[in-house]
Amino acid sequence: MDIALTEEEQRLVETARAFAADVVAPRAADWERDRVMPREAIRAAVEAGLGSLLVPKEHGGQGASRTTLARVAEELSAVDMAFAFSLVVHNNHLNSIANAGNPEHIERYLPRMLTGEVIGSFLLTEPQGGSDAAAITTSATRDGDGWRLNGRKAWVTNAAEADLLSVYAQTDPDKGWRGIATFQVEAERDGVVREAPYSTLGAHAMGTGGFRFEDCRVEDRAMLLPPGDGFKFAMSGIDLARACVAAMCCGILRTSLDVALGYAAGRRAFGQRIADFQGLQWQLADVATDLHAARLMAYEAMRLIDAGQAAAIEAAHAKKFATRVALTGVAECMQAMGADGYKHDFPLARHLACAKMGQYIDGTTEIQNVVIGRALLKPYID
Ligand SMILES: Cc1cc2nc3c(=O)[nH]c(=O)nc-3n(C[C@H](O)[C@H](O)[C@H](O)COP(=O)(O)OP(=O)(O)OC[C@H]3O[C@@H](n4cnc5c(N)ncnc54)[C@H](O)[C@@H]3O)c2cc1C
Repeated sequence: MDIALTEEEQRLVETARAFAADVVAPRAADWERDRVMPREAIRAAVEAGLGSLLVPKEHGGQGASRTTLARVAEELSAVDMAFAFSLVVHNNHLNSIANAGNPEHIERYLPRMLTGEVIGSFLLTEPQGGSDAAAITTSATRDGDGWRLNGRKAWVTNAAEADLLSVYAQTDPDKGWRGIATFQVEAERDGVVREAPYSTLGAHAMGTGGFRFEDCRVEDRAMLLPPGDGFKFAMSGIDLARACVAAMCCGILRTSLDVALGYAAGRRAFGQRIADFQGLQWQLADVATDLHAARLMAYEAMRLIDAGQAAAIEAAHAKKFATRVALTGVAECMQAMGADGYKHDFPLARHLACAKMGQYIDGTTEIQNVVIGRALLKPYID
């Protein structure tokens, strides 16, 4: 499909492809096996310009389109979605400071994030739930000329290595989402407890884990977004995040299909190539059709977002569809490879775990249906 990128943006996509091949591909299986969050590789990707894609050029970023972010994420995800997502989270944190921060925030936080010396993160979800994000209970209470943070955050991507935490906290429970503000908190600050990374089905390279805030005092200037704006800002980026997950799922499905096709062309059974069995061809043809549809949906959502148009429904459709077909498609590709597809010698098992992860991050499949269902019913019940 024709995805409009400038020459400079195209070069960033090529940089991502080369970085994925040269740096990520040789190591991704080891990161997963050893459960390592590859801090140095993330820093190298940031230094290569892949960590500040949306940050305006005047602030030292790439000033690229949202579509470029998705294309870069797709290329990295084609090798390792965990690495890609980790970098997307860093990009988004950096971008939120560049766009919503005052000059002091920008001067204080941006330079070291732009070099990858400081790794970012996004702390909204809590142990008691993520879908109902407005119900968070981590509290921020006034303390002289600053704030005290108390509470727990869960499912923080990059938690294992994050240096700067973008923390969503409630300043006034009576106000619901209007009381939620965003604070920039250094991970090594007193009162911040980094919990051990989770043991999950896969994607350990993104170091997902939790944090506790125990009477953590921050200055007033740590507040990036005041009550009300914090939650609105988080929600304003959600369509982009969802379409980006869809693009990442296209990456893992693309690789899985390539691997399965190559395998099927070389493997023989009953005196012929397994690729010549029509049943197997059709099985992979269905995966290719799903991939084609998922890409069209992901990049149509991105096109709308870049054009500043409403994209909530398109992003929800894209995320729901792409994560679903990634999960079924990777499994079909593994099946086409017989028991070999099940081995860690091939990357498909890693991709399968990431496809499942895609169904939770940035809103579950059910929440996409909530968005779509509400829009479908709106003309009938308003
Ligand atoms: C690997 C990974 C990385 C993550 N990284 C981050 C991160 O960096 N920062 C962050 O803040 N969060 C992160 N998350 C959290 C993610 O956003 C949440 O998992 C997600 O929002 C769902 O929340 P939950 O898991 O608490 O499920 P719950 O909200 O407890 O939902 C449980 C079940 O109920 C369903 N459900 C809930 N509400 C409805 C409804 N209204 N209608 C129908 N069904 C419903 C859900 O779909 C789900 O099936 C990450 C998650 C994962 C798995």
